[in-house]
Formats: sequence, C-alpha cells, structure tokens
Amino acid sequence: MQTNLADFIRDSEEGKEADSILRKCVHCGFCTATCPTYQLLGDELDGPRGRIYLIKQVLEGVDPSSTTQLHLDRCLSCLNCETTCPSGVKYGRLLDIGRTVVESRVERPALERSLRGLLRSVIPYKERFGLLLKIGQFFRPALPASLKASTPPKVEAGEWPKPSHDRKMLVLNGCAQPAIAPNINAATARVLSRLGIDLLSVNDGCCGALSHHMSANEEALDFMRRNIDAWWPHIEDGAEAIVMTASGCGVLVKEYGHILRNDTAYAEKAAAVSDLTRDLGEVLANEDLSGLKPDLSRRVAVHSPCSLQHGQKLPGGVEGVLVGLGFSLTSVPDSHLCCGSAGSYSILHPRIAGQLKKRKLTALESGQPDVIATANIGCLAHMQGDAAVPVVHWINLID
Ligand code: SF4
Ligand code: SF4
Repeated sequence: MQTNLADFIRDSEEGKEADSILRKCVHCGFCTATCPTYQLLGDELDGPRGRIYLIKQVLEGVDPSSTTQLHLDRCLSCLNCETTCPSGVKYGRLLDIGRTVVESRVERPALERSLRGLLRSVIPYKERFGLLLKIGQFFRPALPASLKASTPPKVEAGEWPKPSHDRKMLVLNGCAQPAIAPNINAATARVLSRLGIDLLSVNDGCCGALSHHMSANEEALDFMRRNIDAWWPHIEDGAEAIVMTASGCGVLVKEYGHILRNDTAYAEKAAAVSDLTRDLGEVLANEDLSGLKPDLSRRVAVHSPCSLQHGQKLPGGVEGVLVGLGFSLTSVPDSHLCCGSAGSYSILHPRIAGQLKKRKLTALESGQPDVIATANIGCLAHMQGDAAVPVVHWINLID
C-alpha cells in the first residue's frame, strides 16, 4: 500500500512504525473473513482492512470523526486478523497508534468519558476493584438474574506453599484476577511446588493493558515501570521466569521491551522482563509432568483466548499440556473466534460482546463437556455466568 503520511507524524517513531506496517498491507482482504466484528456487523469499516484504511487516512491528514472513532472502538484487539494475514501486517501496533491519534483529536461525549474514566480508576487497582466486588458479592443473592450472572461468586484461594526449592519463578498478580479468582495463582504455586519450583508473589499490580487499550499511554507506562521495579530485585536474584496466568496480561508484558524501548531508564530492564515472561502453558510444557496425578474424569472444552493464540502466537499449547496429562478434550468449532470479553470491551460494547459470548458458548458446549477451561481471567469472568457448565482456569483442573 502506498503511503504519504502527514507532517504531524511522518518523522516520529510512531509515524515510521505505522508507515512500515501500512506498506506491508496489500489490501487482499483475507483478514476480513475471519474478523468477528465484520462477521457480526457486515460493514467493511468494522473489519481490519477497513480500519487500516481509516487509520491510514487519519495519519495522512484527514480529520477523524466520531464515526472513525466508533469503528476503531468496535475492534476487539483480538488479533485474529494478524493470524490470518499472509503479509505479516502488525495490525495491533497500527491500531494502537491510530487510536492514540484519534483519541487526541475527537472528544468523546461526557457520559462515555465518565464511564471510561470510572473503569480506568477502578479495575486496575486491586484494592478498589476487590472492595467493589465484595459489595457485589454480598448483595449477589438479591440481584436480578442479569447482574447476578456478571457478578462472580466468592472463591477461596487455598494454601500457598511455603518456599522450599532452589528454583524460583515470579508470577504476575495483576489487578482483577486476585479479587475474582485468587485460586488461579495459588493453584499455580501448588502445581509448580510439586514440580520443584517456588512461585514468588511480589507487590506488582495491573500490567497496564486496560489503560493501554484505552489510549491512556502515560498511565499504562506507569503501571509497566512499577511492575518492572517490583520484579527487578528478584530477577537479579535468579528468578527463572515471570509466569503469566492471564494470557491477556502476558501478551502485553511480552511487549514491555518494545513499548519502553526509548525509555533510557527502563529500556534494558523492560527487554529483560519481556524475555523472561512465559505463559503458564509454556512453563508446564517444558517441565516433567509425570508426577502430577490430576482427576481425569471430566471431559474438557478448552477456550483458547485470543491473547494466547493470536496475541502470543501460542495456539494449542494449553491443549497439548492437558492431553499430555491424559485429559479428554471435546472438539470446539470456530476456536479461533473471540468470546467478546476483550478487557473492558464487554462493558463498553455489551451488545456485540453478548452476541459473541452466545456464539462462543454454543461452540464450546457443542461437544457436551463437563467443564470449560480457559487461560484468561477476562474470558472466564465474561462467560461463567451464562455457561451451562463450570468455567475454570485450566490450572485448576491440574491442581
Ligand atoms: S490480510 Fe493482511 S495484507 Fe490482506 S488486507 Fe488484511 S492486513 Fe492487509
Ligand atoms: S483485532 Fe479482531 S476485531 Fe479487530 S480488526 Fe482484527 S480480527 Fe477484527
């Protein structure tokens, strides 16, 4: 694709990156067919190729409108289009750049600004989010069915094993996960302890994804730097890996090195952090699991989050670990498609998110599983209230 970026961005880092991405796109449209929002809405501008054109126009100097913003907002950032694209177009990075420019030029209506501000000021802070969830859980029995479905019940973490091994790994605590499902990281610690690895939980926080996807870039960078500071002494002390139990966080932490590449104080550390970051599936795939004896009686439907299969490019990794342990997996049609969770998307675009969830649950339940297993807290929380069977993190099946 030929480009002629406008003066305001042409010579900047973002401009050069956007230009090289745009030039790779041959507008073949293969990506459009696999885009969930195009499939639902049928509008070219709600598919990747249309969004690429919109971003190109804006970067070439056309004034964006609220309609431009809406088409970019409706993108789930699922990156299914990146998996499909034969030309290797880095759509996700282009979208980040395009959204930031549009955000700075188009003022959102007051109500939208308030909702986005509220989400940004609650969800990334585990104490605030935890308090809000506790209040919701207290009133849960009295809530109407629709609200009840979106309020996860209280879950106990179980015991965190005492440190007793030479091998150490760090784990990201994050923000919403410790409140919604503290049993995920605790189960990870128990399983890794059985494999001879201590899992260290330190005072980190939100990975920055929520702010990043809302184009609140400085806020996102602060979260990233804070996590690097929290992990760094343990990395220097020999931690082998930073384990991600939420694939939505993992995909961003693996990008810290790229995002902070021009930050003189953090570039090197950020690159080291990204290098050490592993999805939990990657960690277990490299260990001897023969000593683990999980309960294999339930048939499992695996929901592979977009952040795992398209974002981190790890399709089939979790399935491989579960099958290797002897689990029986049901087949899941259209497993490449998004469930509609996509961070704050399910709150900001409930109609599209609800349609995608319905479609996803029909696909997951079509093989009559006893349980649905996923690798991302966002997908888990989004689906569990409407699923006919329990939705869990896959590590809880192994624990
Ligand atoms: S598949 Fe790739 S090259 Fe083709 S239109 Fe989509 S992004 Fe462009
Ligand atoms: S990231 Fe997902 S929703 Fe967005 S354009 Fe690509 S396939 Fe469509």
